[in-house]
Amino acid sequence: MRAVDILARKRDGEALSRAEIDWIVLGYAKGDLPDYQMAAFLMAVYLRGMTRQETVDLTLAMAASGETLDLSDISDYWVDKHSSGGVGDKTSLVVLPLVASCGVPVAKMSGRGLGFSGGTLDKLEAIAGFDVNLSADRFRQLARENGLVLAGQSVALAPADGKMYALRDVTATVSSLPLIASSIMSKKIAAGANGIVLDVKVGRGAFMADEAEGRVLAQTMVDIGRDAGRQVVAVISDMNQPLGEAVGNSLEVAEAIETLRGAGPADLREHSLAIAGYMLKLAGRGKRWTDADAVRTLLEQHLDNGSALAKFRQMIAAQGGNVAMVDDPAKLPQASIRETYDAPQSGYIAQIAADQIAWAAFDLGAGREKKEDPIDVAVGLEVPVKVGDQVEQGKPLVTIYANDAAKVAACRARLDAAFSYSPTPVEPLPLFYGVVS
Ligand code: URA
Repeated sequence: MRAVDILARKRDGEALSRAEIDWIVLGYAKGDLPDYQMAAFLMAVYLRGMTRQETVDLTLAMAASGETLDLSDISDYWVDKHSSGGVGDKTSLVVLPLVASCGVPVAKMSGRGLGFSGGTLDKLEAIAGFDVNLSADRFRQLARENGLVLAGQSVALAPADGKMYALRDVTATVSSLPLIASSIMSKKIAAGANGIVLDVKVGRGAFMADEAEGRVLAQTMVDIGRDAGRQVVAVISDMNQPLGEAVGNSLEVAEAIETLRGAGPADLREHSLAIAGYMLKLAGRGKRWTDADAVRTLLEQHLDNGSALAKFRQMIAAQGGNVAMVDDPAKLPQASIRETYDAPQSGYIAQIAADQIAWAAFDLGAGREKKEDPIDVAVGLEVPVKVGDQVEQGKPLVTIYANDAAKVAACRARLDAAFSYSPTPVEPLPLFYGVVS
């Protein structure tokens, strides 16, 4: 086979065979296919799309590009969750220890920031020393010892996704349904979870702009999971405004810790309780955790009595992180400049465009332009208002955390574009639009 022939076929909108997809993906994972040909492949898929069969084949090729973990000797049921990417989405930091604190083991592979969306790995690296580069053996050992482990795409597990993900981030090929579905599901399949809760975000701060697209993505991933023998629930959730208040790595870790302490923003707490509830329901397999009210009460107790926080602390310690930063989030990297962005007019907030908020944080240094770029974990924004809130001209809407005064002007211009106002009351946005299972 020749890469150019396969690229030409995809460029012209033809469907590729399993053998061709395997050849491209496995060749790239091994280093035989160069970045420029994979970049062309990704763009062709982005523009031409993929059939359902191609998407399944792509997922299975990516999952097979490294080891597939079998964790069944440790526990007979593992649950996992994954978000399709959002702004201020630190749900994993809350939900994973929360679920693990209920005795349900979780072993998760996460990603870095992608496009405007943040990544769990980047957030956790705000905690000094936290190691996300675990070998398959270490991943397995921590899963066994603690019932909770969170790692990046190591060389061993779905390495093709790790490399393709980094390339998509810098080649404008992120918001493609087959690429998102295969990226998420290949990681989930490789990491060995039996039950998977997918948080499919829709709206301005998501890769799927509207609910209908989100439903197709959700259904595609549920189908892929079923083909691979996994139980999958996909929750479709709103991403038109940031989740919680913090956007930016250190700030988001601090907010997640606050939520694990039983406080934190109401929407983040509610969202986390819902996702954790679906995870427990899957793990209960119709025998336990069938009563939704009892599950909610249990999860609330674990947030409020410190059990979930203790599990988070245990994970941070086990992976080499500085637990002093968990005990006192003021020790997390802090930005040197802190200033407010004030409401330019009075009224009801009609829109807080999550994509603009994300780019505003990006302008401060919270994201990457090129795949090898470092990010500034300390910078970002705090947005303590929601659509529907009444605001007064001159009152703070956002706190800007920056390390470079020259970058603040661009950030402010984004914020001007992010907010719009209405003289009459505006309905708050829902947290969820539906569930596909
Ligand atoms: N999360 C992933 O892991 N991959 C994507 O493509 C998008 C979100």
